[in-house]
Amino acid sequence: MSSIRTYSGEIYLCKTCGQPCFEGEEAGLEHFTEQWDGIFCPWFPLAGGRLEVEWDTASLDDLKADYPDTYPHLTEAAAG
Ligand SMILES: [Zn+2]
Repeated sequence: MSSIRTYSGEIYLCKTCGQPCFEGEEAGLEHFTEQWDGIFCPWFPLAGGRLEVEWDTASLDDLKADYPDTYPHLTEAAAG
C-alpha cells in the first residue's frame, strides 16, 4: 500500500465509498495506508472503481497533508 502523504501520482475517488484511491502498479485500484481503519469500503484495500477528479493543486496538497491517518502504527509504537 502507499501513503497518501507521499503519493505523487494521480489521485481518484472510489466509486464505492467516495474516498481517495489510486491506480496501483500490481493490484489495480487501491486505497491508501492512512485509510486502514477509517473508511468502510467493501473493496478495501482495493477500491471499487474510480472517479476522476480535476483537483485544484492547493486542495490536493491540503487533502494529502490533512487526511486522517487511521493506520495502526504498531511498529512505531513498539520502537518507542
Ligand atoms: Zn472505496
